[in-house]
Amino acid sequence: MKKIIILLGVPGSGKGTQAKQLCDRYGYGHISTGDLLRALENDASADPADRQKLVDMKAGKLVADDLIYKLAFREIKKHLERGSGVVLDGAIRSVAQAEAYQEFFMDEGVADEVVAVEIALSDEEIWRRMESRLVAGAGRADDNPSVMKQRITEQGNTALRPIAAYYSHAKKLETVDGTQPIPAVARQIEDVLNARR
Ligand code: AMP
Repeated sequence: MKKIIILLGVPGSGKGTQAKQLCDRYGYGHISTGDLLRALENDASADPADRQKLVDMKAGKLVADDLIYKLAFREIKKHLERGSGVVLDGAIRSVAQAEAYQEFFMDEGVADEVVAVEIALSDEEIWRRMESRLVAGAGRADDNPSVMKQRITEQGNTALRPIAAYYSHAKKLETVDGTQPIPAVARQIEDVLNARR
């Protein structure tokens, strides 16, 4: 199994759920930059300059790249040093980030271990899922209509296309159908990963 599994998908695509299942199955580390940022938000003793950068998260915008790299690379290194792989969940949200991560993986000697899996979902399906999430009640601070709208504008399919194209060009991209039920998506992910061993 490849050591660096990058899950790509718009908000609501089920990346987080799939990432957790993969980590449980393979003993991989779960790298969710959203979780790392929320942990920083709750850590009053953290660097104030870093915490200041979280204002963008609250507005549904992307957080500064340097903070993402600082948090994610440290976490990834920790798992690689232990000999385990990682699943990146929402950790790459622009082509610039994809390039920076690839450089980091090169430095760590794991560039050939990278596989990106896109959990594909249409814009219509994204909205349908977002609406049911709102009806179900906000579970997170950034689950409100205006912030969600901003997240989809900035982190939806328009933003995802060039990132997927980057991995496709590098022959590292697999795509699965995100409209299927969770277990079926999981099976499809397993299949594409097994095919790339
Ligand atoms: P998530 O929990 O993955 O939906 O992330 C929550 C929020 O954290 C996003 O809406 C962004 O504001 C921020 N965020 C998470 N990952 C990244 C990233 N790789 N680059 C920039 N911002 C991020």
